[in-house]
Amino acid sequence: MDAAEFRRRGKEMVDYVADYLENIEKRQVYPDVEPGYLRSLIPEEAPEEAESYEDVFKDIERVIMPGVTHWHSPYFYAYFPTANSFPAMLADMLCGAIGCIGFSWAASPACTELETVMLDWLGKMLKLPEDFLAGTEGRGGGVIQGTASEATLIALLAARSKIVKLIQADHPDRSETHIISKLVAYSSDQAHSSVERAGLIGGLRMKKIPTDNKFSVRGDALQKVLEEDRATGLIPFFFCATLGTTPSCAFDCVTELGPICNAEKIWMHIDAAYAGSAFICPEFRPLLNGIEFADSFNFNPHKWLLVNFDCSHSSYVISHLISLQHWQIPLGRRFRSLKIWFVFRMYGLKGLQHVGLAKEFESLVRADQRFEISADVVLGLVCFRLKGSNELNETLLKRINNARKIHLVPCQLAGKFVLRFAVCARTTESRHVQEAWCHISHLASELLQELPH
Ligand code: PLP
Repeated sequence: MDAAEFRRRGKEMVDYVADYLENIEKRQVYPDVEPGYLRSLIPEEAPEEAESYEDVFKDIERVIMPGVTHWHSPYFYAYFPTANSFPAMLADMLCGAIGCIGFSWAASPACTELETVMLDWLGKMLKLPEDFLAGTEGRGGGVIQGTASEATLIALLAARSKIVKLIQADHPDRSETHIISKLVAYSSDQAHSSVERAGLIGGLRMKKIPTDNKFSVRGDALQKVLEEDRATGLIPFFFCATLGTTPSCAFDCVTELGPICNAEKIWMHIDAAYAGSAFICPEFRPLLNGIEFADSFNFNPHKWLLVNFDCSHSSYVISHLISLQHWQIPLGRRFRSLKIWFVFRMYGLKGLQHVGLAKEFESLVRADQRFEISADVVLGLVCFRLKGSNELNETLLKRINNARKIHLVPCQLAGKFVLRFAVCARTTESRHVQEAWCHISHLASELLQELPH
């Protein structure tokens, strides 16, 4: 493909993408395929001779689209959202064209510098403490990680390194291996599985702190476990607080937990993968109170801030870190900050501050006596269930997903099987939410009528 053909094909692809997104609600949100569907549709081996672009392009609809779960459909209510917007897609195209591997300033000055400034923009939008910003006295700052999982792992490894140095400063005779064997890290029993996985990858002991009836870790619960563990000779060194848990969007009480962590010399990392974007709204910023006690903070603009995957914001109080080169696991880094730059300039802060449809869905659920709300609705997630057994709710969810009209996933809350309704797509409107509720309510009526009276 030469530049002339690229110009033509590029315009065709832009048309295809615009058509796809404009008409996405006409596509079935969840595909009908079975595992292994794709292998039979393409050759077993790469082609010996070059094929034409037409042949490749034709296969998008034949091979790919039948197996796509349409995350940007207004009928997609599963997991948490993943963001997208046209400015971010254009920026990604430019990123591909520049194609640098920005591992150091010299490897691509614009890549390093724009990322530093964009992370400061984000930090200021969230009103992070000055220590988390690079632009002030350069004490802190952020980088873009691929995912929240990577951010947690990096924070855990940095905390491990810090505690080993701290202990060895007082006890030079104690070996690193011996110290590490005594370390213990903590998170909420509602924390995302990536937190436990960070412990497994880091080879570190990890314990879960029980949550209260709002699914939130409180100070006394952490304090109790710390005392028990210190009494047995363990060394607590890391706590991962979650703001906006995956099952129910609960918030650990960081204003209680932070002072404990600071007093006990425990690194506090805050995982706000989903909820973090909402903190740009003044009404939700109080949910981030206590950030001043944290050593590191992460959220995913790629979930909820119109910046396409992957773009995970990670900020650190740098004085705790060993070297800037160790802010991420890979050496290479894409020019991802272009997406932030394009999106924030083209929407402005005011264009990004929108939350609301979940409250509308919550009122529909509350108005139906057959259902109950299972957790406080704070942002864009509603946890709900039919009053009744777990089996009943499992059947309802199966029927909802088998009907293929909308797509939801479940969670477990205090032993109960709960349906999660996450408002995901940028294009979701009130009419889609109303339609989704009518559909759920109709399927529930059918199911309840089948039960023996
Ligand atoms: N932490 C929380 C609270 C999440 O909700 C999620 C994903 O939804 C993650 C971490 C993992 O995110 P990532 O895919 O960016 O690693």
